[in-house]
Amino acid sequence: MSLEVASRLDKQMLIDGEWVDADDRTDVSYPYDGSTVGSVPVASAEQVNEAIEAADRAYQESTLSAYERYELLTAAADRLEERADEVSNVVTSEQGKPLSESRTEVDRAVQTLRLSGEEAKRMFGEYVPMDGQKGFAKDHCFTQREPLGVVAAITPFNFPLNLMVHKVGPALAAGNAVVGKPASNTPLSSIVLFECLAEAAEEVDAPDGLVNVVTGSGSTVGDAILDHEAVEAISFTGSTDVGKYLANNSGMKELTLELGGNDPTIVWDDTDIEQAAEQLVGGACSNAGQVCNSVERVLVHETVEDELVDALVDAAESLTVGDPTDDETDVASMVDDDQFQTVVDLFEATVEQGATVEYGGNYGGDLGERVFEPTVLSGVTPEMPAASEEVFGPLVPVIPVSDFDEAIEEANNTNYGLEAGLFTQDIDRGKRAADEIDAGGVNINTVSGFRADHMPYGGFKDSGVGKEGIKYALDHFSREKLVGFHQGFNA
Ligand code: NAP
Repeated sequence: MSLEVASRLDKQMLIDGEWVDADDRTDVSYPYDGSTVGSVPVASAEQVNEAIEAADRAYQESTLSAYERYELLTAAADRLEERADEVSNVVTSEQGKPLSESRTEVDRAVQTLRLSGEEAKRMFGEYVPMDGQKGFAKDHCFTQREPLGVVAAITPFNFPLNLMVHKVGPALAAGNAVVGKPASNTPLSSIVLFECLAEAAEEVDAPDGLVNVVTGSGSTVGDAILDHEAVEAISFTGSTDVGKYLANNSGMKELTLELGGNDPTIVWDDTDIEQAAEQLVGGACSNAGQVCNSVERVLVHETVEDELVDALVDAAESLTVGDPTDDETDVASMVDDDQFQTVVDLFEATVEQGATVEYGGNYGGDLGERVFEPTVLSGVTPEMPAASEEVFGPLVPVIPVSDFDEAIEEANNTNYGLEAGLFTQDIDRGKRAADEIDAGGVNINTVSGFRADHMPYGGFKDSGVGKEGIKYALDHFSREKLVGFHQGFNA
């Protein structure tokens, strides 16, 4: 099977209802063979300002009701769904993930848009029972939710389509205008998304500028967004370093940060080891391990360590590695040389420090450019790089622990706190993990990588602030106003 990108995708930016170019352009390449698949403009700071100001005008002018915002998002979902095959190819061509995973991503993005449309109709306030305080029996108050204005959405490379929808969908549902900024190595599928949004916006007579997308250097676009006072909210998904930079410079803007992780999954001695192993390998190797909540550390009770390692090897062996366009492929290429080399270095340093390669350990060469084999490592200690750092690659490091106290302590032995998993039949152990693991989500009898698009999702500690998951993101993209009535004033 071959990659069916009709021709080079030389895309433009959407600013104030017009598709526009810039003085400079940058190429986008197919990670599996390095060929150029398209190009995008490199926005100047002035162009980012134009996009923000167009969004601000559109926000002020927009009279879209909740029902019309539902129609807009539903129409965009319809358009994306009609283009699903094409967009799946675009995702693989710029990101390198297996085509089967790209199809899943497009399907999720369509659902996330539809769910966002539904959520537009549920911006509830609440009645405040004022007579609960002495002397306020003649007062009547309620709250109403209102949009913020301009929301900027900055996204990473690993889910280039669905992570943009996770921001833009709820922001539009709440009645905001948006400026999107996709990652420079994977901007094409986001631009296709904005093509769908722009057509849908026209269908409901939204003002030009309600949806904008700019491409180019993260620091140029990011600084222009930080500096512009019309931007009321920034929703960022990406590395902890950039997240901290935004946190330190965003002043009074609303900020949502979905950052890195080093997620543990605990395997206890009372569980089905074979089934757990299959999920663990799947959770570590999906998208070649380039997933924020992938299985990064396996903490196993020492009495079942050997059994688990054997089962992990079997599960890793069953995966097909290589060409992303082959329907059989489970693990394909990493997005670029930097990501690939970082994983190679972390792997080599971990082996040098004494870890044993139980399966895998090959990379590049005949496997394909930037392809790293699913790799099971035993004898890993918490200090080794594959355990102590976020690894955006298909490594499965196994760390033995002797009791549940140690398992919890090791799970928390990281600056991150995104998600965690635990396999056990013991409900008390499950509740302890839920209470004591310091992460935004604790998943019992599944891996850390568990996620549905409408559930609250977001980490603690260096993994970020705020939640995504449509309704939860919508809360960040809207504000609560109190309205009070005094009864009897004109009597
Ligand atoms: P990244 O390097 O931080 O880039 C993310 C986005 O930020 C890109 O669009 C990038 O633009 C932009 N950017 C770079 N410098 C910026 C600046 N100074 N101001 C504003 N924006 C700037 O992250 P990545 O390597 O693409 O993604 C991997 C990271 O994302 C991992 O740590 C992963 O765990 C995390 N992640 C977290 C979640 C979650 O939900 N918690 C989900 C997915 C990924 P350029 O591409 O132009 O540099």
